Amino acid sequence: MKSRLLFVAMSGVRVRDPGLLALGLTLPGFVERSKVIASLPSLGLLTLAARTPDDWDIAYREYDELPENAAESIRDEGFGVVALSSLTARITETYRLAAELRAAGILVILGGLHVSAMPEEAAAHADIVVQGEGEPVWETVLRDVKRGNYLPVYASTDVPSPTHFTPGQPVPRYDLLDPSRYNRLTLQTTRGCPLHCSFCAASRTISPYRKKPIPQIRRELEAILEIWPEPFIELADDNTFVDKRWSRELVALLSDYPIRWFTESDISLAGDPALLEALARSGCAQVLIGLESANPGSVRGIDTRNWKHLRHSGYRESIRTIQDHGITVNGCFILGFDHDDASIFPSTLECIDSLGLAEVQITLLTPFPGTSLRQQLVEENRLLPGKGWDHYTLFDLTFRPARMSVDELHEGFRSLMRQTYSEERVRHRKSIVRQCLKNLRK
Ligand code: SF4
Repeated sequence: MKSRLLFVAMSGVRVRDPGLLALGLTLPGFVERSKVIASLPSLGLLTLAARTPDDWDIAYREYDELPENAAESIRDEGFGVVALSSLTARITETYRLAAELRAAGILVILGGLHVSAMPEEAAAHADIVVQGEGEPVWETVLRDVKRGNYLPVYASTDVPSPTHFTPGQPVPRYDLLDPSRYNRLTLQTTRGCPLHCSFCAASRTISPYRKKPIPQIRRELEAILEIWPEPFIELADDNTFVDKRWSRELVALLSDYPIRWFTESDISLAGDPALLEALARSGCAQVLIGLESANPGSVRGIDTRNWKHLRHSGYRESIRTIQDHGITVNGCFILGFDHDDASIFPSTLECIDSLGLAEVQITLLTPFPGTSLRQQLVEENRLLPGKGWDHYTLFDLTFRPARMSVDELHEGFRSLMRQTYSEERVRHRKSIVRQCLKNLRK
């Protein structure tokens, strides 16, 4: 009989701040994006599922859809091994579930961004930890589990030559999903980012910057189309259009299919008219761009090349160029940089209004494990006591700001959220979206 292996994804954003939670119930733009994030499947687990040998019987579930007595029910279904992937904000719940599963006699494997940055912490809660990329080590992990002789940690950095991000690699097991439960499916075309912003773990914890071969992306896209003929796809990339030549090939490929799609990019996209024209024809609905701050001083030095600071004065022009091509921009701002004082709140609102953005996301600076920001705040003894990992939601404050009190930043952030997502401003941004659609038809 085959051994049974269950993949469990711990997705979603859970805000802790009661003031924001109350607001979140009524703020349309804020709620919409949170819902989208919560409803994305874990591409990491689907990718590992594709690399699982045939002598395993596998299934995929979302944690939030498991019954209350999850561990017993998983055991009763005959699963002997559970692989869990989680972000920092849900790692405490993940550890709790891992303890229940292990008590029920189930072997637990943990992986993902948080675990990769904190392998020793995670090892105390799991039988096996996968650190870094899962693909290079996954088959070895499962072989060792079958033999009953496995290591506590398998690190992708211990594997000399990666066998993934190459043509012919297995396609993520999208067929394990019920597409009716998701409003978007994820496809990864690049991994990592060369900019290395101080607050960003994605750029360094899992992988250096890599591009997937275009024929491989085509195979993965076609696998999605088999379960959802006209899908909405979110590229699970950190920064898609770094290499413009490759990006034009990517966009040409996406144009061949009846899809709508969304991705994250840096602002350099605005400087490539050929790419923008191709994007407009490809079904690209929106690009999310990290503008980071209204305050140029706060952007200075956040990436290792000071790249973002050099582009700050051109934001308005760049956003107009992108949106003139019919592609809406979701501009992201972070509050709480060391250069920010209380003037950052009105200046952010003014900046949002003047940039003419179709959508906006504002979050609090968060010192995720694996980032140079966290290292700095630890050295300066500025992490707030009592703020466990479940406060690392991007909407809850976890450190002492440099030029404001904790209360000032908290209250200023809530007030900025209220104003940014007021009915009037949301209505105005919807009119910008409509204008973008008109631009697209021109
Ligand atoms: S540009 Fe974006 S993805 Fe790249 S390092 Fe900065 S925050 Fe991370």
